[in-house]
Amino acid sequence: MEKQIERQPACKPEVGIEKQFLRTTEFFNLEGVALDIVPPGAVEPLDTEAAATLDMPPSTLTKAETIENNAVDSEALSYIIPPTILTPTFIFNIEGMEATQATQFYTSSHSRPASHDETDNAVPLIERKHLVIRVFPNLVKPWRQAAGAIQGEVWFKRTDVAGQPYRKAIVLNGSTAGRRAATIDRGNANHTLNFRIPDFYARGKLVVYSRCKVLVAGQWKYTPWLGRLLSFVRVPVVRIRAHGVHYHRNGILKAAPPLSDFIATSVYLRKTWPMSRFNFLSYDVIHFAGDLTNTAGGGCGQGWNALWRQLRALYNASGQDANHYALMKKGIPTTYGGCGGGNVGASFVGDGSIMAQELGHALGRSHAPGCDVGGPDPSYPHYTHPQSAAIGEFGMDYATGKVYTPSNSNDFMGYCGNPWVSPCTYRALISDINHQPSPITVEASRCAKNLCHSQEHLYLDFGVSSNGDVDLQSGFSMEGPGDNSNGGPTKHSIELQDGQGRVLWAKRLVLKEAHQSHDDSHTWYSEAIPMLSEVARLVFKCGHADGPTIIDIPKKAPTVNIEALKFDISEAQSGTVPLKWTTQCGKDEQVTSIVRYTNDGGETWRPLVMALGETEYKVNLDQLPSGKNCKLQVMASTLLRTTMAETEMFAVSRTPAQAMISPVPQDGQTQQSEVVELAGCAYSPDGCADEDDCRWNSSLDGDLGCGEYLIANNLTPGEHVISFSAPDGVGGSTHAEYTVQVLGQG
Ligand SMILES: [Zn+2]
Repeated sequence: MEKQIERQPACKPEVGIEKQFLRTTEFFNLEGVALDIVPPGAVEPLDTEAAATLDMPPSTLTKAETIENNAVDSEALSYIIPPTILTPTFIFNIEGMEATQATQFYTSSHSRPASHDETDNAVPLIERKHLVIRVFPNLVKPWRQAAGAIQGEVWFKRTDVAGQPYRKAIVLNGSTAGRRAATIDRGNANHTLNFRIPDFYARGKLVVYSRCKVLVAGQWKYTPWLGRLLSFVRVPVVRIRAHGVHYHRNGILKAAPPLSDFIATSVYLRKTWPMSRFNFLSYDVIHFAGDLTNTAGGGCGQGWNALWRQLRALYNASGQDANHYALMKKGIPTTYGGCGGGNVGASFVGDGSIMAQELGHALGRSHAPGCDVGGPDPSYPHYTHPQSAAIGEFGMDYATGKVYTPSNSNDFMGYCGNPWVSPCTYRALISDINHQPSPITVEASRCAKNLCHSQEHLYLDFGVSSNGDVDLQSGFSMEGPGDNSNGGPTKHSIELQDGQGRVLWAKRLVLKEAHQSHDDSHTWYSEAIPMLSEVARLVFKCGHADGPTIIDIPKKAPTVNIEALKFDISEAQSGTVPLKWTTQCGKDEQVTSIVRYTNDGGETWRPLVMALGETEYKVNLDQLPSGKNCKLQVMASTLLRTTMAETEMFAVSRTPAQAMISPVPQDGQTQQSEVVELAGCAYSPDGCADEDDCRWNSSLDGDLGCGEYLIANNLTPGEHVISFSAPDGVGGSTHAEYTVQVLGQG
């Protein structure tokens, strides 16, 4: 078998490499033209003369790109029937090409998985996402005529940028047995020839050519070239504020997983979501001690609900500019694998498909039906029958080349097994990602409901029992956006009234956390309530037999004073600094505090600790982004009223980035020993190193490419020390190593 080490491209455009794609332009008038030269089902006679002219390799190709398999197996030859027996019924061409990044519509002459009106390749291709080209060769020959295995090649070139050379796609499977296209099973990865075009090249307009060859009677016979012009859709990076959960309860202690675990776990989403990559805007550690096995209290149960509320409070306290996601290490007792909705979610390290679902909930996706799932999405297509979460089309893992088959694979938004993604969820997520929380959506929400100015909102978390009792959990108010999160409507509503009982504002409550139901013992809400100046009371209309629940809003807010900082503010600071403050409130009130930090003079704030009962906190500046305009803030809250105080401005020095590597968890069914997938990042509180500056290297095979995610196909057998290196942000570099044993072909 030929050895092909995938070398991911340098992430800066290469210069000075000129490779000619030999003379194809003479055969096809191609540039800028969509080339369905051979429509599915059509056949063209073999043009041996053309094939001979097109034979590889041209002299201008480098050695690494030459085709090495021109050698003829003499034993195989002895079985081959002499060319004189070749009859006119010999047909060898390509039925079509499927361009897939996760899922795709393609109607081969054999596989028609579901009845639909979709055209081939109708699922949009996403910019900078790895792309698999499945080539469907069609070989028709007399029954007694022997032929070798079919091999192929795929070449591609960007046509929207001048002077780009043709490049050869990475081979995912080497060869396939010759057969009529009408017998190709899309569910079998090895019935087609599969190639990968690295994410770096998946952008703009890409012309892709394929050709196959087969050895017949000692001679290579070639198909005509088949070309397509592909274009890509730009989808924003998915914005995440990552929270590693430090868990401590009843003697079970699990330290917070590092950011590299987020990157490794989210590789499943890189593959199945219509996106190229994540932007982890921040990483911090949160503390949690809830009981995740307690299923009482509705939704995901009391423990998960508490974690969800904690994340919602963090989401609100940081200005709603990104999704918030928490990961925990495995080994914490739990009933469920995750929980999510309302732009936040949580799950465990390594559970990529669960993260895909919870983050889908966070962006407003409901469940795919079937397998006793709660709240199924009524608009999910009936690919097979109404109660099925079947993915409806063939899926493809671009790293391993594994095919997901509609008959036994189900959408990750549901509870059924062997999860992958359906075209329905995939296309819907494109829109969801475009509307994800970001500074742009925050700006837009300010102008919703005639609040075109910065408005103080009360961010209130509360529960409502099935008999209408209201249970206030936590709250704080600050200037910030209203709430744009999606959710299912309920019969419950909330009103703001002035002192005379006039309604100032009202809102129907929605269930933002996706696993809640109207039939639960409790429903949980996290709302942004505008604190209009005349406000006097909150009125909850939640179906209580005694009528609405009225809660007066105290006229007076608590007071808070921060002690002067104990360091010389003229010097850049690092390490741990103590922050102390005092609070005062009414006789029967209780104050909790939130500590926030800014490094841009108060433009953006990041919560460091929520709902603190104490009045001091040790701030570790080494875990915070640097800057000259840094301040700390204490928000003291009596639930319905909040006051804040800030320190003077000071400078914080930059913490060097540190490289780390995590192995990408393998699906239990993946038996691909040839693909090594690793996730790495060079984390600093000032942000991770730019993906394009991160490099992977193997002690045996040398440079493996760049990025935070490595796919290494066909590494040389032996022990590889794989290193990941990146700039540390302060003039040096940082690197991490991971040892992997690659077993030889057995
Ligand atoms: Zn769910």
